[in-house]
Amino acid sequence: MLPSNPYCDLHIHVGASVAPHIMWSIAHQQGFKLPVNNYWEFVDLITAKPGKVKSLDEYLAILHEWTEKIQSSPAALERAVYEIIGKEYRSSRVEKIELRFNPMKRNQEGKRDLDHIIHAALRGMDRVILEYQVEAGLILCLAREFPVEVNEIILEKAIKYRDRGVVGIDLAGTETNAIELTDSVTKYAALFQTARDAGLGTTVHTGETTATSGEGVIAVMKHLKPDRIGHGVRAAYNEDATKMLADTGTVLEICPTSNLNTRAVRHLEEFKYILGTFQDAGVLFTINTDGTYLCETNIQREYSLMTDSGILDHEAAERARMLAFEASFIP
Ligand SMILES: [Zn+2]
Repeated sequence: MLPSNPYCDLHIHVGASVAPHIMWSIAHQQGFKLPVNNYWEFVDLITAKPGKVKSLDEYLAILHEWTEKIQSSPAALERAVYEIIGKEYRSSRVEKIELRFNPMKRNQEGKRDLDHIIHAALRGMDRVILEYQVEAGLILCLAREFPVEVNEIILEKAIKYRDRGVVGIDLAGTETNAIELTDSVTKYAALFQTARDAGLGTTVHTGETTATSGEGVIAVMKHLKPDRIGHGVRAAYNEDATKMLADTGTVLEICPTSNLNTRAVRHLEEFKYILGTFQDAGVLFTINTDGTYLCETNIQREYSLMTDSGILDHEAAERARMLAFEASFIP
């Protein structure tokens, strides 16, 4: 049955959103040696079941250890992108989607050619757009843990493929403490300016762990001035951060289940406080999945989670749903 409303997902990672049976198939196609005895053990290996994952680092470890490795070939990435976009349309009527990944984490430390990897992702996207008539774009993720020069190469590629379907860049990775993160952020001011000048959309993962109380969000807004922020939930605990978000009209990409799984937000009651604070302060936010299979969710479920638990009323949920379409980097 066709869901009544179309959705737009602005924050969804390739490494966290391929169905396990597709990953299983890709792994076998490439002759991967897997540390499991059967399919079900594999499912367990690549999902972040509640109770299994206790932090963002543990969550990222699953991506790093398995899914990114299995997706590290042009053929694997083409299929991954193709399968995700089709499945999100079929299951939740996601008609607009910005899929993100780090191409440097798909090239086996330089053994695969980066252009081949990006072309493959674009091929998968082209095919699925034609089949389902959806709008889609790719966001290339830079990594906090990479040297600046490596991230510069990713930006170069994003600019090179801007007219082919790469719509923006992201800076991802764990924030450890306030000083470190201000430091890591200032290094990227020029790079983000270059991205903006080239017409790319910009977003940054920040305020996603309890290690900071919104200082990361402030540092990011001050130095990188992104159009959007991935998560940013910790900004609700910092008046300056909340005010800056509202004043600049920076759009938050909220990913409820992901934050609950990584313990960035302890429970739904805390989410109610966070989104209530944002609403009162006039902070713009959207609802997204982060990773549909890693988090065992889809975008309809994320909205239902927010409305059924009384965190968002119908109007607020509708505002978030419509805003996602408007805040998209897809021209
Ligand atoms: Zn994310």
